[in-house]
Amino acid sequence: MSTNTSALITGGSRGIGRAICLALAAQGINVAINYAGSASAAQAVAEECRALGVEAFAIQGNVAIESEAQALVEETIAKFGRIDILVNNAGITRDNLMMRMTEADFDAVLDTNLKGAFHCMKAACRPMMKQRSGRIVNISSIVGVRGNAGQANYAASKAGLIGMSKSMAKELASRGITVNCVAPGFIETDMTDVLPEAVKEKLLNEIPMAHLGRPEDVAAAVAFFASPAAAYVTGQVLCVDGGMAV
Ligand code: NAP
Repeated sequence: MSTNTSALITGGSRGIGRAICLALAAQGINVAINYAGSASAAQAVAEECRALGVEAFAIQGNVAIESEAQALVEETIAKFGRIDILVNNAGITRDNLMMRMTEADFDAVLDTNLKGAFHCMKAACRPMMKQRSGRIVNISSIVGVRGNAGQANYAASKAGLIGMSKSMAKELASRGITVNCVAPGFIETDMTDVLPEAVKEKLLNEIPMAHLGRPEDVAAAVAFFASPAAAYVTGQVLCVDGGMAV
């Protein structure tokens, strides 16, 4: 049953974002499900969320473009009356060794993963400040914490997200808004499915728990940061990685 709480999840059509939408919907939270190109997948997630008894809609928009990110927040407020939770989950990879990495691949990753979160946070923080409450959860990565050969652009975007989140936690704390990061390890989604077997094998060897994580493992951490139980937690980074960061 709907709790009259509402959330915007960027990149909610697949993988971790889809699991976050379902986890929040299961708690009675209405969800706006953003996607870039996968319209039917996003519609299917909206259907699944509605089946859990909440209001849900899919909304196209490229978070890397300021006006489109702003429209996501505006549409969420238009449909639900407010925005309580923002989850910046949309992300891409364009892996290569730096000596072969093009400027376009560097920019694409930074624009989506880091600037996209900046655009969405900037748009959401004004209404949240007026409400004097809000929860922002940014999906970083273990790669932003530890670095990874072949992912300089991605690591920079995800480390940047951690710094930006800690700064925003300080800017927004007095207005009752928390900003936290979840840093997933190696999670079974389309993003990791495309990795060569040798890379997967090497990554698996670095996981103390010796198996990949599921999108639901990450969604549970997001649901915690978004819940009343986390009211006094801000500026934190929670690694959901089977022990990789230890
Ligand atoms: P995924 O399966 O590739 O899904 C990516 C999602 O982001 C899709 O919903 C996609 O929409 C959306 N998206 C991409 N670019 C976008 C843009 N410019 N504007 C709006 N939406 C956009 O990825 P995932 O594995 O679930 O990853 C989700 C997040 O977790 C990412 O930030 C990723 O960096 C992070 N992460 C993942 C792992 C992992 O092991 N999988 C580990 C650490 C961190 P469409 O479906 O419409 O394309």
